[in-house]
Amino acid sequence: MEKSEKILQINDLNVSVDNKMIIKNLNLNINQGEIHAIMGKNGSGKSTLAKVISGHPLYTINKGKIFFKNKDITNQQPEVIAHEGIFLGFQYPVEVPGVSNIDFLRSAYNSKQIKLKKDILDPLSFFDLATKESQKIKINPTFLNRSLNEGFSGGEKKKNEILQMSLLKSELCILDEIDSGLDVDALKEIVESIKKFHNPNNTIILITHYQKLIDYIQPNYVHIMHEGNIKISGNKDLAFNIDKYGYEYIK
Ligand code: ADP
Ligand code: MG
Repeated sequence: MEKSEKILQINDLNVSVDNKMIIKNLNLNINQGEIHAIMGKNGSGKSTLAKVISGHPLYTINKGKIFFKNKDITNQQPEVIAHEGIFLGFQYPVEVPGVSNIDFLRSAYNSKQIKLKKDILDPLSFFDLATKESQKIKINPTFLNRSLNEGFSGGEKKKNEILQMSLLKSELCILDEIDSGLDVDALKEIVESIKKFHNPNNTIILITHYQKLIDYIQPNYVHIMHEGNIKISGNKDLAFNIDKYGYEYIK
């Protein structure tokens, strides 16, 4: 079997905000096509890590490097990182009344096409593409015509995030607590969409507290964050033990 390509490499990362150290000496390596789950108590630094990888300007990288497809993206602008192929799905996607979902999606799509010096799509061609893509990942195309996230249920907002990463063909998708605010049925639908989206060319980081999500998705690796560092890494049994014994288990 061919050795899989390294997609994300984080070396000795130290991050602070307002002079407060949040991430300390963190290392993480992820190969293309893998699914990694990151768990950990509230305040352990999971969302900070997700935001730093995506280039959020609020956080200062004091030390260390982040490589995406062997390219140094440390301190890059968020737009550049997104165009390179990294997608961050938000825990609470914002509602934008008056902006139609399909217009928003097309503008995100076309801006990436321009960046890649590829053809942009007119509204009708994009509508065809978005409809096909929605069906592929089991999302009802009717909400393409609604205002962005306005009045969307929790599950619909999360599905819209999956539709975005699918249209953008994002190669590394970071999903921060995609399970939050979802009932069991909505969670199952989201899982189905994620599974339809996932293929050997894309990689997913799932940030979650929820054992059920780990059960459904079956990630290749599970990492536990504690006080700004990955304290322990393992397979899905690690998540099972955390669920059973609590985060005390890592001690
Ligand atoms: P998690 O996602 O694991 O719950 P966070 O990354 O959100 O953890 O937060 C980690 C720590 O960093 C917390 O102590 C939090 O208060 C702090 N933190 C995160 N963002 C900021 C910020 N913008 N300003 C001040 N402190 C922050
Ligand atoms: Mg968080």
